[in-house]
Amino acid sequence: MYIYDIAVVGAGAAGVIAAIRASRLKKNVVLIERNESIGKKILLTGKGRCNITNAASIDRFIEVFGRHGKFLRSAFSAFSNRDLIDFFGVRGLELKVERQGRVFPVTDKASSVIEVLKEYLLESKVELLYNMRLAGIKKKSDSFGLDIRNKDKIYARKVILATGGASYKITGSSGDGYNIAKRLGHTVIPLRPAMVPLKTRESWVKQLQGLSLKNIRIIFKYGNKKITSTVGEMIFTHFGVSGPLVLDLSGKIVSAIDEYGDILLFVDLKPGLTPEQLQKRLLREFRLKQNAQLKNVMRSLLPHGLIPLFLDIADLSGEKKINQIIRKERYAIIKLLKAFPLTICGSLPLEEAMVTNGGVWTKEINPRTMESRIVPGLYFAGEIIDGCAWSGGYNLQQAFSTGYLAGESAVYA
Ligand SMILES: Cc1cc2nc3c(=O)[nH]c(=O)nc-3n(C[C@H](O)[C@H](O)[C@H](O)COP(=O)(O)OP(=O)(O)OC[C@H]3O[C@@H](n4cnc5c(N)ncnc54)[C@H](O)[C@@H]3O)c2cc1C
Repeated sequence: MYIYDIAVVGAGAAGVIAAIRASRLKKNVVLIERNESIGKKILLTGKGRCNITNAASIDRFIEVFGRHGKFLRSAFSAFSNRDLIDFFGVRGLELKVERQGRVFPVTDKASSVIEVLKEYLLESKVELLYNMRLAGIKKKSDSFGLDIRNKDKIYARKVILATGGASYKITGSSGDGYNIAKRLGHTVIPLRPAMVPLKTRESWVKQLQGLSLKNIRIIFKYGNKKITSTVGEMIFTHFGVSGPLVLDLSGKIVSAIDEYGDILLFVDLKPGLTPEQLQKRLLREFRLKQNAQLKNVMRSLLPHGLIPLFLDIADLSGEKKINQIIRKERYAIIKLLKAFPLTICGSLPLEEAMVTNGGVWTKEINPRTMESRIVPGLYFAGEIIDGCAWSGGYNLQQAFSTGYLAGESAVYA
C-alpha cells in the first residue's frame, strides 16, 4: 500500500497553491480533483478577467473579513498579496492595479492565471489525479484513508481539504468538504449566500430591469441598525437589485433578513448633495425652466428610465408645468431623491452566490498552521473555512494565503 506524504483535495486556488508549496518542500504530494481540469471557478472570476487580489495593506485585508479577519492574519503574513504578485511575476504573468486597488493579470484573462498554475504544478512534480471525487476520509493511527467514489482508496500521512464553497456547483464546488469535515467531528457554521443579488417586495423593479444607477449610495435599515454603502453602482434586475454596492453588503443583509424579516433599502440618488444643497439646485433649475414640464426637467437629475416610476412614487404628474409645482411637491421630490425606498425580502439561492458564508468553524482550526484542532494531520484551506469578504480580490487572496500556509505547515508540523 502506497502512502503519500500529503494529499490535497480540490484543485482550486487554495488546493493548487497548497500542493505546490508542499511539493517544493520536497514532499510527495498528490492533488485530487473531481473535474478534468484545475481552477474551474478561477475562470469565472472577475467576469473572466480574474480579480486575483487587492493592493491593500494586510490590515485592510483583515478588516474586510470582519470578525474572521484576525483568524487570517498569520495566513496573510505567510503569503501576502505582494508574495502573490511576485509568484506570478516570476513566471512572466504581470499583474496590474485598477480602481479600488483591484489587481488583475495584464492579459485581462483568467486563463493566464490557470496556465501559470499548471506550469508550477508540473515543475513542482505534484501528482495530479483528475476525475476523482472524494467521498470520505478515515483517520488511521499514522495516516488517512481517502475514499474516492468508484475508485480505489488513496492513503496519505496528511490531508489538506480545499474543496471550496457550495455555490456555482457547475465548477465542482458542491459543498462535499463540509459533510466530510462534519463526519470527522468538525462544526460547520450554517451556509448562507454572500455576494448575491437581493430580491425586493416591489414587483415594479421588473420594469427597470437592466437599469444601472451610478454614483449613488444605498442605506439598509432594520431594527435600530443602519448599514451605509460607499458611493458606487446598483443595477435593477427582474426580481430586485444587484450590482457592486448590493453584492458587497448582501452577506450582512442575508443574515439580517433571517433575524428581522423584511429590510428597508433607501437609495440616495444624490449622495454628493445635502438636502439643503439639493433644494437650492432644484430652485435654481425650476426658476430657469418655469414653463417646462416636470418630466423633462427631471432628466437633468435622473436616468431617463427611472423618471416615470419616480414621479409615480412621488405621486406627481410628469405633465405638470414647473410653475405649477408647489413647495410640498418640491419637498417630496427632494425627499425621494435622497431616500428612494425599496423593501428587501430575500436573496437568490446559495447556488447563485459568488461566495459561501459559513463553513468549517475557525475555532476548530489553528490559525498559525490551518491544522484541525480536532483531527491532527488534517488541514483546511480556502472557501471551506467560515468567513468571507466583499468583492475586490480579497476572497481569492484568502484562498491563496490559507493554501500556502496549509501546504507549508503540513510539511513542517
Ligand atoms: C462568478 C464568481 C466570480 C468571482 N470573482 C471573484 C474575483 O474576481 N475575485 C475574488 O477574489 N473572488 C472571486 N470569487 C470568489 C472566488 O472564486 C473563491 O473565493 C475562490 O475560488 C475559492 O477558492 P477555493 O480554492 O477555496 O475553492 P474553489 O475554487 O471552489 O475550488 C475547489 C475545488 O475543489 C474541487 N472539489 C470539490 N469537491 C470535491 C471532491 N469531493 N473531490 C475532489 N475535488 C473536489 C472542485 O471541483 C474545485 O476545483 C468569485 C466567485 C464566483 C462564483
